[in-house]
Amino acid sequence: MTLPSTDTIITYPSAETRSQGVVIHVEPLPDGRSAVLLDRTAAHPVDTAWPDQPADRAALHTEHGRLEIIDLVTGGIHEDRLHLGADLPVRTGTEGWVFVVAHIIDGAAPGEGSTVRVEVDAEYRAALSAGHTACHLAALALDAALANQWTKPAPVDALGNPAFDSLAIRSSRIGPYQSDDVYRLGKSLRRKGFPATGFNDLERITEEVNGRLATWIAGGGAVRIAAPSPGLSGRRSWKCRLPEGDVSIPCGGTHVSDLAELGAVTITLDPVAVQGATEITMRTTAGRSHR
Ligand SMILES: [Zn+2]
Repeated sequence: MTLPSTDTIITYPSAETRSQGVVIHVEPLPDGRSAVLLDRTAAHPVDTAWPDQPADRAALHTEHGRLEIIDLVTGGIHEDRLHLGADLPVRTGTEGWVFVVAHIIDGAAPGEGSTVRVEVDAEYRAALSAGHTACHLAALALDAALANQWTKPAPVDALGNPAFDSLAIRSSRIGPYQSDDVYRLGKSLRRKGFPATGFNDLERITEEVNGRLATWIAGGGAVRIAAPSPGLSGRRSWKCRLPEGDVSIPCGGTHVSDLAELGAVTITLDPVAVQGATEITMRTTAGRSHR
């Protein structure tokens, strides 16, 4: 019963949906389930600290046959203790920790040292990848459409526009062929130079974002994930070729390999008044959802 001393090697950044790995450790959980840790996996877990892309749907093929994976969460090992999912107190990549993908199963766990196969639901993965790529594009297009609203210099995004998306974002949830990003317009954003009136002309902003997205998709453009190291805590980034230039955004998720795969990508903006602020939900939809 030794816990792994190195990160799980992950192969989903290169879009793999099948992998073979050795069981390094099986952690029995209080609810009778088990967390299976492998040396490598193609299965994308949900990141507890920033849960934008949900876990893959996947199965484990062991000496006992096929086992449904109930959940895939990130785990961290520190001082010989495994912290899973919501109990993980640090962000992935924190110094001094080992980060692993935990395959949560119910039923007879495979033996430590045995070789197992991971099979990811490729169709669901493809739908999430499309949703995630569309989400990044929409964020860049929104930043561009809001660029002239800023009243003072602000940090910029990958295209050099004031980074509204990263400065205002509250949550980002990716689903099959779609995403919902929630932005908060409040005092702190106003202090940074984005005025309360910034979203007054919702219609113009929506049109401008959708126009830019249509141009980008029509042009096509290669998308890839750059991974400086193969372990879970490696700092990966999303690289995409756009007419304005090559962009790079830190990202732990999965993506399509070319913008041309997305079909039409469109957004809607939905403002809601909350206490002391306005929250705007940007829903992004990738065309393939209407197949
Ligand atoms: Zn991302």
